[in-house]
Amino acid sequence: MPDSEKVIELAKRRGIFWPSYEIYGGVAGLYDIGPIGTRIRNKIVQMWRRIFVEENSEFVVEIETPMITPSKVLEASGHVENFTDPIVECTKCHKIYRADHLIEETVHVVVEGLKPSDLTSLISEKGIKCPACGGDLGEVRNFNLLFSTNIGPYSGNVGYLRPETAQGMFTAFKRVYETTRQKLPLGIAQVGEVARNEISPRQGLVRMREFTIMEVEFFIDPEDKDVPWLEKFYDDEINVLFSNSKEKGERPSRIKIKEMVDEKLVVNPWMAFWMASASKFVQSIGIAKENFYFEEKLPYERAHYSSQTFDQIVEVLGEKVEISGHAYRGNYDLSRHSKFSNEDLTVFKKFDNPRVVKRKTILINKDKLKNNPELQKEVMSLISGKNADQIELLVNSGAEIKDRKLSEFIQIIEREEKEHGIKFYPHVVEPSFGVERCLYLSLLSAYKEKKDRVVLSLPKNIVPYQVAVFPLLDREELTAKAKKIYNMLKDNFEVLYDDSGSIGKRYARVDEIGVPYAITVDPQSLSDDTVTVRDRDTWEQVRIKTQDLNTFIQKLFSDKGFSMVSGEAKR
Ligand code: AMP
Repeated sequence: MPDSEKVIELAKRRGIFWPSYEIYGGVAGLYDIGPIGTRIRNKIVQMWRRIFVEENSEFVVEIETPMITPSKVLEASGHVENFTDPIVECTKCHKIYRADHLIEETVHVVVEGLKPSDLTSLISEKGIKCPACGGDLGEVRNFNLLFSTNIGPYSGNVGYLRPETAQGMFTAFKRVYETTRQKLPLGIAQVGEVARNEISPRQGLVRMREFTIMEVEFFIDPEDKDVPWLEKFYDDEINVLFSNSKEKGERPSRIKIKEMVDEKLVVNPWMAFWMASASKFVQSIGIAKENFYFEEKLPYERAHYSSQTFDQIVEVLGEKVEISGHAYRGNYDLSRHSKFSNEDLTVFKKFDNPRVVKRKTILINKDKLKNNPELQKEVMSLISGKNADQIELLVNSGAEIKDRKLSEFIQIIEREEKEHGIKFYPHVVEPSFGVERCLYLSLLSAYKEKKDRVVLSLPKNIVPYQVAVFPLLDREELTAKAKKIYNMLKDNFEVLYDDSGSIGKRYARVDEIGVPYAITVDPQSLSDDTVTVRDRDTWEQVRIKTQDLNTFIQKLFSDKGFSMVSGEAKR
């Protein structure tokens, strides 16, 4: 069994996640997150919040917007038209496949960005048949991944479940800008459920139909390249596969954040800032630095709105999964929503000192036209809808009306004007993570087998419980003492109490769900008021006085390892 399947098995067995509606046979792409999974997941979200929101609280705020989205919003964003994947149906058994994946998996060519007609030709050229029945495949067509619904009782009021949280942040931008410090940069963060009607969801949490996204829409002034906040990351190194290296078939290489900015390998320094934050976050949930890299998308692989995109790819236990996407969205979103809503979503940038600008003005010689309405009409219709530059070109080209030069009636002059500021659409940098993929990739990274046993070596900051308390045997005095210890610790730590089954089974359970320390009350505890503390990863044990437990566990959650802390305690 591949290791990733063992993790899926473990997840079901231990209440981390399992297919939803199991008693009815389940629905592909829908998963329940169980009692243990929810605890780990909440900690992952908490880590993300710490790194993406709290550490940048000077300029990042968090909001919540609805899951149900009116059609107009997703028309403006381009989703109604473009949020599609190509599908192909077998003409014999009518099974439907995601066309690009089917081609990639059968003939191993990359087809990202190809049109449905190109995919149809490829299928026939390569002789690809239905994997299920060997039948001929039909024409490839686009399938829209939006889940649609009706808002309210009247039909025709179409809405969709959001496929990303981003649009809620764009449509709320003006309100958030006005109610905060009215300054850029401004980050709007959101953690929320999204739904995508994926064509072929995979087993596990990688391609789901409903999942949770954590994203920041980061609004910036594209002219302002001064990003002092980036300095803290300058010396950090990340693995990146730039598009030119990718085209040559090379592997990712290690690069310093500072170098990426100095060499202008990112379209804006803020891209590097969020990639460095993403690197820090991914490591904090237990994914080793050598197991992930950022891959720059080639122009035809990018979404229509993006001028640069990096996917953060994790490779672990034979899986290769995109954990986050980093897109430079330019002013696409705000300008589109402005156009579709007729609301001005620009911001005003005041200059430190007013600027003197030369502006072309059109002068119409009305005296020469006033007695000739016919001529006046023709002149006006010639220049209507044109700007000063276009009219100047016309005049200079010697354009004529009724054998008279246009320059007789129209003059372009330049005037000096004082400008106190300008209005512009902020640009957007977007780092976007899927929560369940983070959970899944943390589990894969933590999965270890030790002497035929499974140990989930999760980092201590995302464990479901920090410590477990067990009575060794089911004896009244031992359970009473164990409960007392549980009550003593539970105000300071997240404690799991368990007195069912053999001690071996209980150790196995806490190892499998990643609890780092287990305290056991045994008969000796009754005579000398000591307990054993066992380490999940090494299975080492140390005996500690009950009264010292709080401080001892506190120390275990500092950076020191178990051996060091237990060594100090023994002295
Ligand atoms: P995207 O908006 O497609 O760039 O997705 C943002 C992030 O959401 C990705 O980097 C993944 O971590 C996650 N994600 C995307 N699609 C799915 C899916 N079908 N199931 C689970 N997570 C997903």
